Amino acid sequence: MKKKNAVAPLLLAVISVIIYLAVGKTLHNAVTSSAVMKAQATVIIIDAGHGGQDGGSSVDGVTEKDINLDIALKLNAIFELFGFETKLTRSGDYSTDGSEKFNKRLDLDNRIKLINSYENKVVISIHVNEFPSKRYFGAQMFYKNGQNNVKWAEKTMSRLKTLQPENERVAKPINSALYLYSRIDCPVLLAECGFLSNDAERALLTDEKYRMQIAMALFAGYTDNIESEVNYG
Ligand SMILES: [Zn+2]
Repeated sequence: MKKKNAVAPLLLAVISVIIYLAVGKTLHNAVTSSAVMKAQATVIIIDAGHGGQDGGSSVDGVTEKDINLDIALKLNAIFELFGFETKLTRSGDYSTDGSEKFNKRLDLDNRIKLINSYENKVVISIHVNEFPSKRYFGAQMFYKNGQNNVKWAEKTMSRLKTLQPENERVAKPINSALYLYSRIDCPVLLAECGFLSNDAERALLTDEKYRMQIAMALFAGYTDNIESEVNYG
C-alpha cells in the first residue's frame, strides 16, 4: 500500500492560512519568544495509537487506528510547518512490532524504545474512545502524573472546547497502570479525541475538516502552554 506521508502544497497553504486566522496571536508571540526557541529544540513525538492488525476501537466500520493516524499526520504537518522537530511512532497503517503475527507488547516496547531514544522530548499520543453507552461524548486530555504538564493538558482542553462548547470534560492524570506511559520519562499528553460510540461525534471524526480542527487545537494547546511559560515561568 502507498505510504501516506506527503502533504500536498495546497493543503499546507490552507493549513497556514487557517492557523494564521485561528491562532495568529499565539504564533506571533511564539516566534518571537525565547521559550519557543527552547521548545523548538524539543522533539515532538507524535504517537498514533494502534495500527495494522491492531485496529483499536471500531464502530460501524469506523476504526480507531485510521482516525488516530490521520490526526497524527495533520498534527505532524502543522508542527513541521512552524519549524518544530517531530517524530512519528508510525506514519502509515502498520503496527510497530515488526513481527508478522501481531504482538501488542512488542508493539508498545518498540514505541517506548523509540521515545526513550530521544533526550529532549514530549509525547502526544493520539487515540479515540469507545464506550458501551452511546451517550458519552467529548474529547479529553490526560497528562502524566508527577510531571509539570497539567497546564498543557488544561490549555489543550480549552482549545478543544471552542470546537465542542458542550464538552464538560476536564484534564485528568493518565492511568498509571498503562504500560506505554509508565515506561517513558517525559511530558506526555494522551489525547482521547472523542467517542466513536457516540453517533454525532463519530460523524464528526470521519470528517476531514473536523480532524484538522482537532489537530489545530492540539497544536494551539501546545503553543499556549509555551506562552504561559514566557509570562509566568
Ligand atoms: Zn486507543
